[in-house]
Amino acid sequence: MKVGVLALQGDVPEHLRALKGVLPEKSLVPVRHPDDVSDLDALFLPGGESTTIARLLAESGLWTALAHRIADGFPVLGTCAGLILLARDLAPSGAGRDPPTFGVLDVRVRRNDYGTQRESFEGPVRVQGLGGRPFPGVFIRAPRILAVGADAQPIAWRDEEVVGVRSGAVWGLAFHPELSGDTRVHRAFLRATVRRH
Ligand code: GLN
Repeated sequence: MKVGVLALQGDVPEHLRALKGVLPEKSLVPVRHPDDVSDLDALFLPGGESTTIARLLAESGLWTALAHRIADGFPVLGTCAGLILLARDLAPSGAGRDPPTFGVLDVRVRRNDYGTQRESFEGPVRVQGLGGRPFPGVFIRAPRILAVGADAQPIAWRDEEVVGVRSGAVWGLAFHPELSGDTRVHRAFLRATVRRH
């Protein structure tokens, strides 16, 4: 099995570290070029700066390569900036120009809607399929999920608010499981979406 982490900008080492707890190291691929995409079984889109990641995706030729695979049901998990890049609809954020998105996750999202870096926080999140123990949700200038469309299902909640959704094999989370020291979400995603896992 080959699992990629988009490695253009953002918390790439943290995703790789979390995945090393789940998979053999030789299964992990930092994705930087269109050629890296063809034999992947799944991909993680890290947190970071969605506008920067979108620009680097376009410049590297990865945007087109990934868009084709994602349209084909390729498993992708996006965290924070990754969620933004997957969303179908971005509400204007006032955070400068919003990035283009792949538009495969039927949600309306607003960037930075929980406030600035200083207002970043950690708190318990309930994630579907992880059993009763709450997941440590790390929120850093997080996007808020304003609405979930008919083609997406909520999979994570902070109190009553939806903070994670999926649509088939595409998952998007407003928080950062890669920064939590808890690999249950990485495991659950691979178990649910990659047949050979
Ligand atoms: N605020 C960032 C953005 O808009 C996302 C922050 C994050 O990934 N931690 O892209």
